[in-house]
Amino acid sequence: MGVRPSSIARTGKQSALPQEQLFDTHPEVSLDFEVVRQAARQKYTRPFLILDNAIVREKALRLRAAMPRVRPHYAVKANPDRRVLKTLLQEGCSFEIASIAELDMLLAIGADVAEVFYSNPMKSRESISYAVAKGVEWFVVDSVDELRRVHEIKPDARMYLRIATPNIGSDWPLLGKFGAGASETREIVATAARLGADLAGATFHVGSQCRNPANWRVGIEKTRALFDTMTKAGLKPRMLDIGGGFPVRHVKPIPSIEVIGEVVNEALKAFPEEVRVVAEPGRYLVSDAAYFVCRVIGTATRGGKRWMHWDAGLFGGVIETTEGLKYRIRTERSGPDIPWHVAGPTCDSVDVILRDEPLPSDLQEGDFIYLRNAGAYTTAYASEFNGFPLPEVRIFESKR
Ligand SMILES: *Cc1c(COP(=O)(O)O)cnc(C)c1O
Repeated sequence: MGVRPSSIARTGKQSALPQEQLFDTHPEVSLDFEVVRQAARQKYTRPFLILDNAIVREKALRLRAAMPRVRPHYAVKANPDRRVLKTLLQEGCSFEIASIAELDMLLAIGADVAEVFYSNPMKSRESISYAVAKGVEWFVVDSVDELRRVHEIKPDARMYLRIATPNIGSDWPLLGKFGAGASETREIVATAARLGADLAGATFHVGSQCRNPANWRVGIEKTRALFDTMTKAGLKPRMLDIGGGFPVRHVKPIPSIEVIGEVVNEALKAFPEEVRVVAEPGRYLVSDAAYFVCRVIGTATRGGKRWMHWDAGLFGGVIETTEGLKYRIRTERSGPDIPWHVAGPTCDSVDVILRDEPLPSDLQEGDFIYLRNAGAYTTAYASEFNGFPLPEVRIFESKR
């Protein structure tokens, strides 16, 4: 049991369990570090992600066991590698997409497109038309404008309304951009009823790497009230999408999926059996399955401060540190920790990924850096900015 984070806020009703019992209650998996070290030693040409699909399968099973009523629709953007997508398809997952390029990947692996959720609240006309032509039926909206646009292109589209819900206690909050507020929600519902559009459900996103289970309860309660409003307006709400945000273990303690499941399962009792429930996990399904490996290009002292530059930075896949996500960083040095500034390889001044990070004093040029549980939102973000190559993605499947 780790230290209880002070930033966990409580919203709405108090949880029945004391906060400290909510954290680290179940063992979390990780890719075996020895396997990763061997892989780096055998061959290294550029930063790489090494991912074990057996762990991806395990996580999919665990999520379904924790929330039997909830079908996972994997958020492709977290890690769009084709081999990962195929594995999740085999495990009975469906998918959530942000773009038509992601849709094409799903078509290529033979996923059932009618089950794909197009959850980007702002879609171009061309993208909607393309998705409709390929058989997509479910489209998110969070504005009257988007509702009208989808309805014009596909009058019988099934739409679900994304509402704003609390993102308290999430390492990567998504609030402040997407999600309809109370007055927009009323307007969207009224417009759907007037147009005869099939506003068939609701969704919310609690924020990514969410360590506060109460956010799901609040989201589900808000959608429960919204379903009533929709029914009164003459609509037929029948799908609830509880979004993503399920956390993985880095440095701070997390509520396990089983604890979140208890909260979710209880709140879902307010919905009749015929209401279909889905989730959109991204990070949860893929992070633990992988390590991200890069190397120290060189070190420097500037203004009395120790710097090290890695061959992967903000543009090469290590971007989530910039919003405060803390990876467990492993090295093969054992010197006492000192505060380091860590930069990527580019000349861009924003390419600083960590400041005053305690790391071994004897780290030096050529050393490997291993980021644990980094299968999500690393390679997916990488670009070739400044001419540095994209990370390699090495996928295998162990016999666990
Ligand atoms: C990014 C995203 C997800 C996945 O979020 P995670 O925190 O990775 O689980 C799910 N749904 C939507 C709409 C998203 O934008």
